[in-house]
This record gives sequence, structure tokens and C-alpha cells, in this order.
Amino acid sequence: MSGGPLLRAQYLESLGIDRYVRRQSGAPAAAAPAPVAPTPTILTAPLATAPSSGDSDPRWEPLAAEVRACTKCGLHAGRTQTVFGVGNRHAELLVVGEAPGAEEDRQGEPFVGRAGQLLNSMLRAMRAPRETVYIANVLKCRPPGNRDPAPEEVRCCLPYLQRQIELIAPRLMLAVGRIAAQNLLATDTPIGKLRGAVHRFGTQGTPLIVTYHPAYLLRSPGQKRQSWVDLRFVQRELAQLRASARSAKG
Ligand code: SF4
Repeated sequence: MSGGPLLRAQYLESLGIDRYVRRQSGAPAAAAPAPVAPTPTILTAPLATAPSSGDSDPRWEPLAAEVRACTKCGLHAGRTQTVFGVGNRHAELLVVGEAPGAEEDRQGEPFVGRAGQLLNSMLRAMRAPRETVYIANVLKCRPPGNRDPAPEEVRCCLPYLQRQIELIAPRLMLAVGRIAAQNLLATDTPIGKLRGAVHRFGTQGTPLIVTYHPAYLLRSPGQKRQSWVDLRFVQRELAQLRASARSAKG
């Protein structure tokens, strides 16, 4: 995959994140056509890019069919279609959002539209482009008016995500947004306090990091730098998890 500081800087620009400019030592600020300091470089390998088809576990299609036909909660009545999830079924990184919005409901794919484009930029910025990760939501059907998921809806739907996680066996999960994070971690702790830590999800104890939802970042662009802090944290954690897996294999 292509990369390098210049490309990374372009991605950061697309996020609207200012780059630091280093002044020449002793030079007045106005006379400092300073070189752009390198974007914080994280020397991690790009994520695995195994194809998502051809070598799939045969348990995927029955699960997808079950979701397509699901009427376990009332949300089935208002959906255009279910939004199962998309991406690399062997992904190291599983991105989990809240629930489909109007556009996702129409297209049957999570994170499309403006928020999806920003998520794509965020993923590229941390050298994990969309096609290398798996993306899903806590809920597979759109709540009317994009309201928050009800606890009963989450209770009905979460087992599908748990089965997806068993099949993918990701090294790391990235919960995007307060609703996803709080439902996955069964907590009402504010997102600001959930960020910056490695949590554990499910019976397998999959490591999980929390960041802001791209839709929130579109409304609050001042938080994009904080989201970049989270993405660098994801990169570092993935690098450590890979190293641990390698040393465990001997
Ligand atoms: S939201 Fe989940 S549990 Fe509810 S109907 Fe859709 S697939 Fe079934």
C-alpha cells in the first residue's frame, strides 16, 4: 500500500487537522518559511489485506441470511434493508458504529455519506484503508429518525455482532461514537472518559479502543485533533498486539 509522510499529511489535511510548523531557531516568526514538521510517524505495518471472499468461513452466509430475515425487534418494520457489515473478514481491526442512518439503510452498507467519507479518511490516515478493515454497527436496522437505540433493540441485535466478532477474530476493535462505545462496554461513562484506554469486549476479551464518531467530528471539527490522538493510539496498540502474537508463536 502506498504511504509515507507526504501522503499521511494529505490525509490529515483532509481531516482538517492543522500540521505543526517548526520555526527556524532564532529566526523571527514572520521570516520562517518553516518546513512542515513531519506528521507524527508511527512505524507500524499496514494492516493485512487478505481478500474478503473466496476463502470465507462457511458460517458467514447463514449468519447473513439470518440477519436479513430478522424480526427480533421492532426495527425490522421500518427498514429498507438490514445493514450487515462490510469489509475484510480476516481484518485485524473491526470498526463498530452505532446503527444505520438513512443513507446506510438505502445502500445496505455501514458508514456511507459524509460521515463515511470522513471515516475513510481517518482509516487511511492510520494506514488502515477501508478495504483492509471490517465495519459493522451495533444495530443492523435503522432506528426511526436516527434516534438512539433502545436497550431492548441492542439486547436483540448484539448477538449478531458477537458472532461476527467470533468469525473475524480481530486483534482490535475500534468503537466509534458514544452510543457504540457505551453499548459495547455496557456502561454510561461519558465518551471522553472512555477514550485513551484499552478496554475488553466479550468473552474473548477482544481489546477495544474508543474514539469519536465521524458525524460528531463533522459537527465539531475542533475535536479532529483528539480523534487523531486516538488513531495513533490504535496504531501503537495494533503494533504491540502483533508483536505479542509473534513472540507467543516463538
Ligand atoms: S435491529 Fe437487529 S434484532 Fe432488530 S430486527 Fe434488525 S437485525 Fe433484528
